[in-house]
Amino acid sequence: MNIILLGAPGSGKGTLAKKITKDFGLVQISTGDLFRGEIAGGSELGLKLKSYMDKGQLVPDELTIKILSQRITKPDCKKGVIFDGFPRTVAQAEALKNIAKIDSAVLIDLPFEEIERRAVARRVCSKCGEIYSTLDYAGKNCAKCHGELFQRDDDKLETVRLRLEVYEKTTTPLIDFYSDRLFKVSSLGSPEDTYKPVKNFLLGLGGKK
Ligand code: ADP
Ligand code: ZN
Repeated sequence: MNIILLGAPGSGKGTLAKKITKDFGLVQISTGDLFRGEIAGGSELGLKLKSYMDKGQLVPDELTIKILSQRITKPDCKKGVIFDGFPRTVAQAEALKNIAKIDSAVLIDLPFEEIERRAVARRVCSKCGEIYSTLDYAGKNCAKCHGELFQRDDDKLETVRLRLEVYEKTTTPLIDFYSDRLFKVSSLGSPEDTYKPVKNFLLGLGGKK
């Protein structure tokens, strides 16, 4: 089973993906994480990716598709994949047709004001990638691995607003693109509340638990 997660940046795709991964044995592929890994490695490619991301712009399709295609050849993907943050453009969705069969697209719905509020509160563990919010977690270190928590450069308010604009213009056409296999869920509630209907939906699709 392969699924994609659609939703604005900061709508909770990563959090939901991690829950699905745990229950259904799928592999999460986040293009944002792939890019940040490349940046952390200090490569020339990483510098190029960072220049787009820091401005809240999308990485060009050709580059994104190339990096995604390399990741998908790894053997762990045979278990099935959750695409998190990919595709983000119609061109990427067209390219994905030749890469994997998509069983379903889960659309996470959240008002933009709430996204802004959550985004500026988001912190990420520098060691294990766990996501926290200053709205409900006061610690400076990860509760799981004690890694230091940090705020992503692109989680600043101006950048968040830019990314939402890009999402509206470039990514929302994908809602039509996948209308024949779309499952919509609101993430206004807790992560658990968001996950429950998705879990039932995926079980219905024949996902193994
Ligand atoms: P979020 O989960 O908040 O949406 P991501 O980690 O998915 O953030 O993405 C961070 C940045 O990485 C994006 O703003 C964009 O610059 C770049 N990026 C990630 N995925 C893609 C993609 N599929 N196409 C183009 N750029 C991407
Ligand atoms: Zn951690």
